[in-house]
Amino acid sequence: MTATTAKDELVDVVMVGAGIMSATLATLLGELQPGMTFKVFERLTDVALESSKAANNAGTGHAANCELNYTPGKPDGTVDIAKALAINSAFETSLQLWSYLVEKGTLPTPLGFLTNVPHQSLVWGEANTRFLRARHAQLSAHPMFHDMQFTGEPARIAEWMPLTMEGREPGEPLAATHVPRGTDVDFGRLTRILFAGMEARGGFHIQLRHEVRGLERDPDGLWRVRSVDLADGTVHEIKARFVFLGAGGAALTLLRKSGIKEGKGYGGFPVSGQWLMCNNPEVIHRHHSKVYGKPSLGAPPMSVPHLDTRNIDGQQALLFGPFAGFSTKYLKTGSYLDMIRAIGPGNIWPMMAAGWHNLDLTRYLIGQVLQSPEDRLAELRKFVPTAQLEDWQLEIAGQRVQIIKGDPKLGGKLEFGTEVVAAADGSLAALLGASPGASTAATTMIYLILRCFSERAQTPAWQDRLQRIFPSFGHDLSKEFDLLRSVRERNDAVLGLA
Ligand SMILES: Cc1cc2nc3c(=O)[nH]c(=O)nc-3n(C[C@H](O)[C@H](O)[C@H](O)COP(=O)(O)OP(=O)(O)OC[C@H]3O[C@@H](n4cnc5c(N)ncnc54)[C@H](O)[C@@H]3O)c2cc1C
Repeated sequence: MTATTAKDELVDVVMVGAGIMSATLATLLGELQPGMTFKVFERLTDVALESSKAANNAGTGHAANCELNYTPGKPDGTVDIAKALAINSAFETSLQLWSYLVEKGTLPTPLGFLTNVPHQSLVWGEANTRFLRARHAQLSAHPMFHDMQFTGEPARIAEWMPLTMEGREPGEPLAATHVPRGTDVDFGRLTRILFAGMEARGGFHIQLRHEVRGLERDPDGLWRVRSVDLADGTVHEIKARFVFLGAGGAALTLLRKSGIKEGKGYGGFPVSGQWLMCNNPEVIHRHHSKVYGKPSLGAPPMSVPHLDTRNIDGQQALLFGPFAGFSTKYLKTGSYLDMIRAIGPGNIWPMMAAGWHNLDLTRYLIGQVLQSPEDRLAELRKFVPTAQLEDWQLEIAGQRVQIIKGDPKLGGKLEFGTEVVAAADGSLAALLGASPGASTAATTMIYLILRCFSERAQTPAWQDRLQRIFPSFGHDLSKEFDLLRSVRERNDAVLGLA
């Protein structure tokens, strides 16, 4: 195969992968530096077909309203709310970006991708009830969560989430919280709108069915990116001043190919997922919230079961899950060899050590894979006691690749967050990890911009634009309550939230 594109084609930014992360970064850079040129390579036939596709993720606008894993319990019976405050603040930052884009006319109204859906938690048993009560007491005392309500009364729970109480045996201690200002987000639709906005402004091109296979740094400091046209096998090369590896689970493989020393030691542990999707409209329309439970013992934090009202491509849907599983693929549409191919001298030790220290997790995931339809129905019935197998069908969710990192004590450790790994000179960055994911894309991309475009980010022009897009830029919403109030009032009014 030979390269067919002139080697001197040069753009400011090459992005690998057309998901929500690339769409958000492109939109921000386009606002900060009109005239910047972009090329996006996507191996699939359209944008947002991997994790960002609505049916491949849960669409929760993660704001730590209902996700109990963001508020771990402490031995003294209180809970740690630090992560909840950070995630709530990050989601409000995404809302600020979307409000700005609505006011500018880039995002349409009605929005079509953002729906107000209450966020609720439901737990059973004495210990979990104590935990939820303590969590509510601490969170609702903070202005970020002042509207969170708690109840241990079955009748009240039935008002909030009727489907979870119908047919339930009386007597078991139950507790629930309710936050009216929750959201469901169709990240697939949002990605498509953002990319369409970029294409309309010029200097921006998406190359579909093109897979990036290699990238190298030239002596002049520019990156040479090699892609293959999957339709005819021709190889193309392009030069870029900055490269973003927004390839979802495959970002790790490309990071290793880039050879930057900051990427050394990183590995990836894939976790697959499945949903039960309700196919009975009568059941779908009797539920109107996202109900998160407590993860079972040994389960990874992102596999907390939840019963979710969704709005997918304008249609109301109801899903339950995810049921986690183990697959060696790094993308849903990837190869079973992905994990093997990602192992090399730089990360073999952290990968093996992390595997060794997480045997329980591996066992749990294999157990999940082996579940029968009846096992899954039994899980569902903890949330919907009257559920019937024929009303629910099994669907495959997106793939999440958790970060493995070198660790001086353990050799390697598994992390469940999101991390930007960037070259020291800021010419390349990769986004690894999957949680809290798409909801916090704006905050992650601000971090990336400050890190990789550090000089330009300090200029009055960029500072001014960042301030205009994000009124909370440079401030802490979890501490500045007047600002929090005004930011929320504007987001609610512009985005039509409760
Ligand atoms: C089961 C599940 C539930 C989730 N629930 C939530 C949730 O409720 N809320 C939330 O905020 N987030 C959630 N997430 C996380 C969220 O979906 C992801 O964080 C987000 O979609 C990642 O976006 P991305 O752009 O990085 O990756 P993706 O959307 O996966 O896009 C990466 C793109 O790169 C392309 N690509 C890969 N390799 C190459 C290559 N070599 N050349 C060209 N193209 C390439 C892929 O085809 C793909 O289109 C969930 C994820 C999963 C899997």
